[in-house]
Amino acid sequence: MSQDPLPFHEDPPWYKGVVLAVVVIPFLLTIWAFTTLWGQHAGWLELSLLIGMWIITGLGISVGYHRMLTHGAFQAHPAVRATFLAFGSMAMQDKPSDWAATHKRHHAHSDQEGDPHSPLEGFWHAHFGWLFRDRFVRSGPIYEQIRSDPIVRMIDRNYFHLILAGLLIPALIGGLVTLSWMGLWTGLLWGGFVRVFLGHHITWSVNSVTHMFGTRPYETTDKARNNAIVALLGFGEGWHNNHHAFPRAAYLGHAWYQIDPGRWTIKALEKLGLAWDVWMPDEDTRRNRRTST
Ligand SMILES: [Zn+2]
Ligand SMILES: [Zn+2]
Repeated sequence: MSQDPLPFHEDPPWYKGVVLAVVVIPFLLTIWAFTTLWGQHAGWLELSLLIGMWIITGLGISVGYHRMLTHGAFQAHPAVRATFLAFGSMAMQDKPSDWAATHKRHHAHSDQEGDPHSPLEGFWHAHFGWLFRDRFVRSGPIYEQIRSDPIVRMIDRNYFHLILAGLLIPALIGGLVTLSWMGLWTGLLWGGFVRVFLGHHITWSVNSVTHMFGTRPYETTDKARNNAIVALLGFGEGWHNNHHAFPRAAYLGHAWYQIDPGRWTIKALEKLGLAWDVWMPDEDTRRNRRTST
């Protein structure tokens, strides 16, 4: 058998402990934040930090990691590439190159043997169980090709610093606005950990929920579905049947009512001259692939 271009990587046992901490700590802090702090130490400032950081890191994942880096849906100015990959890193979902290579494997084997996270192995496996089962791609020719971009290597190298920045920025804003240690802590909690928790489960829902629940306007070889709730929370990523039908398409919303904030972002970058070669199949090509409206 020829060499797998996207081989699974065997992580050392301690790494699974790190993953466990990354999954469990934001979860516990989120429960705590909601049960004990709401109303006492959470107000408009904390909510703004939560929403602001969710938008920045969510677009970093959808526009930067996914559409730009993994699928090459558009070209962008180096400063835009660096910025969106840095925002994506703050989401704590792996380094850009590892995320992109693992996701490419998902497309290459969608809902077949070898898919890192198909719900055919169970909903929870697809949601986050796969994180503990050596299903990451961190080597191989396609991984090396992703890393041939010096900007990607630079963000990869600074991944842990960027995670830290994603926690410290909301903490500092919280502390400086309120001039208190409590503001520093609640900024870290809501703009940092609660935001990481929500961002994780939104992205993981693309792997679990949108391969199980929703509509299938396009006939694809996998189980990918369009799910409006995941799309609303995930900056357009929930239009996952559209995405699997045309993985390289820059826009995941294919109809006017399919809200796609990632599309608005790319269009804005294009208007500013910061993005170009935005790829999208024309209406006829899409209509011919559709089995329903
Ligand atoms: Zn998928
Ligand atoms: Zn994709």
